[in-house]
Amino acid sequence: MIISMKQHSSQEEIDAVCNRITDFGYRIHTVEGAERVVIAAIGVGDVTACLESLEAMPQVENAVRISAPYKFVSREFKREKTRIQVSSCEIGGDDFVVMAGPCSVESDKQIMASAHAVAEAGGKILRGGAFKPRTSPYDFQGMELEGLKLLKKAREATGLAVITEIMSDRDVEMVAEYADILQVGARNMQNFALLKRLGSAGRPVLLKRGLSSTIKELLMSAEYIVAHGNRDVMLCERGIRTFETVTRNTCDIVAVPVLQEMTHLPVILDPSHATGKRSLVPALCRAAVAIGADGLLMEIHPCPEKAVSDGAQSLHLPTFRQMMKELQPYVELWRESRAAAVAGESTKMTEAAVTV
Ligand code: PEP
Ligand code: MN
Repeated sequence: MIISMKQHSSQEEIDAVCNRITDFGYRIHTVEGAERVVIAAIGVGDVTACLESLEAMPQVENAVRISAPYKFVSREFKREKTRIQVSSCEIGGDDFVVMAGPCSVESDKQIMASAHAVAEAGGKILRGGAFKPRTSPYDFQGMELEGLKLLKKAREATGLAVITEIMSDRDVEMVAEYADILQVGARNMQNFALLKRLGSAGRPVLLKRGLSSTIKELLMSAEYIVAHGNRDVMLCERGIRTFETVTRNTCDIVAVPVLQEMTHLPVILDPSHATGKRSLVPALCRAAVAIGADGLLMEIHPCPEKAVSDGAQSLHLPTFRQMMKELQPYVELWRESRAAAVAGESTKMTEAAVTV
């Protein structure tokens, strides 16, 4: 169950509700939002009797039963999509958002050229890893703080927002100082210490699906971040590991509409890691738009042949420009269908919808 308290409830009122819930045998987990406190009741008990009892308490705004183990991120909890404001753009809203840039930040020249290409082609967010999770300990590990500083410089020069990967809970404060969005990589999807810490990072989080993770596991990881206080979470399908070897990973494209059904969080597709091959990226970008993703996270490079990581899947800048142009008619159709979906959603909005 999720119990939403009325706005500005006093601590005494909150305690009274918590006591009532524990009397019914449930454990509680409270999340304090800007406007109200929301309480998750977890465990087994007499749901119907507990709900009735809570609904009778005047300080309770509403109480709903949520059967899924991921509660705060489920569509049952919140019908309307979460919109995440990042600088001048909104993710999960009326615009299809393109985040692009190199796999790794390598140099001033490389990141500036990439940033200008993103801005000129209509992208809104610059990507670039300063901390790199590499399979081999002997591979380039990232420029770390120097890389973050270069991202900041590119941000100031172009007005783009910046997304970069966070690998450890110890680095959250430092990375949050430079980045607008914190990216949790596939290998860290179940780094629970990191997920918990991101609850209080004060920055939106893009959570990538683990290499061999199910959709439910992805949602449970997102739940960690939200349950620890940060509701600005977006999910990213980046391909999963299967028996197929022609592509680097297998893109679970249907995960996009599946997630759109199961959760209110924005869903992003990464066509670069999903394929590992630049020739396949434009087609997958079109597919992402057509299937209703909220945006793309993709790799580009001024000279992919010389990239220190993921060159084979990075688009050359002119190809990226061309791809963005060719994507436009699809994005127009996307806008029409998104507007229709939002109109339909608002008429269907249930009582479960609350602002945390
Ligand atoms: C990346 O975005 O460069 C990256 C390392 O991605 P993933 O975590 O999906 O492998
Ligand atoms: Mn990469």
